[in-house]
Amino acid sequence: MLNVLHHLPGELLSLDGTEIYQFLPDLTLIHLPGELDPPLLISVLLHGNETTGWLAVRSLLSKYGSALPRSVSLLFGNVTAARERQRHLPTQPDFNRIWAGGEGTEYALAQQVLGEMRSRGVFACLDLHNNTGRNPYYGCIPRLEPDFLALARLFAPVAVYYTAPQTVLAYAFSDFCPAVILECGLPDAPASTAYGLAFLERCLHLKSLADVPPTPLELLHTLAVVKVPPAITLSFGPHTTADLHLPADLDRWNFQTLPPTQAIALSGSQRGALQAFDESGEECTQQVLHQAGGAWYLRRPMVPAMLTLDSAIIRSDCLCYLMERMGVPATSRGPRSCAAEDFPPVDLLT
Ligand SMILES: [Zn+2]
Repeated sequence: MLNVLHHLPGELLSLDGTEIYQFLPDLTLIHLPGELDPPLLISVLLHGNETTGWLAVRSLLSKYGSALPRSVSLLFGNVTAARERQRHLPTQPDFNRIWAGGEGTEYALAQQVLGEMRSRGVFACLDLHNNTGRNPYYGCIPRLEPDFLALARLFAPVAVYYTAPQTVLAYAFSDFCPAVILECGLPDAPASTAYGLAFLERCLHLKSLADVPPTPLELLHTLAVVKVPPAITLSFGPHTTADLHLPADLDRWNFQTLPPTQAIALSGSQRGALQAFDESGEECTQQVLHQAGGAWYLRRPMVPAMLTLDSAIIRSDCLCYLMERMGVPATSRGPRSCAAEDFPPVDLLT
């Protein structure tokens, strides 16, 4: 049964994400009244190691107390994994892959969350996450409709349009309200928390998404996800016996356009394989990647995202997503590059 509260447990705002499990079970909804309805749905800790959402919400609720300009429905995700600072525990599903139905307690609770919020109505669904590698702040939207674009613009000047996986929370909410995944940079960083908090405050004061200024937005579209097969050993740096060698600073490529002449990985053995899958889950390795002279290359210029130096994340999720830049939507005024000095191109190990 879904745990639904209508108040904040007394000590909650003084707790670290690792301590919430003492007061709340996984997938708890807390409805907090504000001046305007319907509520903002704010989702935190769907991934237990992604701390920025809770840190920003904790600051937001401490600041506004019971005088919220708009009602908030706060969804706590995987507080059990947050205790261990894990994305999810080995015995659990990924809590951002449970929103399209399935067998098991978490899937049933997710459907109850959707049912409860659908009946209440939602102003916007904001799902806060972190990356494990260096990326700019960016939103991910499952639809190119004006309200979705407005949410993305309000968060950052760059956004990703995705249509898979359809099992994520924001995709499920997009059936009945504007929804966005907010990639808030690295976890625990004060700058990430400040950025997330500023965005939540802007949302809290909005009367309508039509009021969001038409600032420039650069949109990218996901083409493929790149995975390392489980049997392949990998390492960072060239001088090992691993099957696949990745550059030690590959996350500096995130949101950079990589040319097809740039080697992205080296094969240390004949087994050194990468695999790519399109948004429908079909393998598309040959369409986006090729191997030559012991190195892997892109077939054409593409933009990687979510490249990480964390091999556990590469194993459990993916090496990266490959994207291409889209045309400028009608509701934006012009293109603007997200490439900052923080994300310069780099040379691969050789
Ligand atoms: Zn996440």
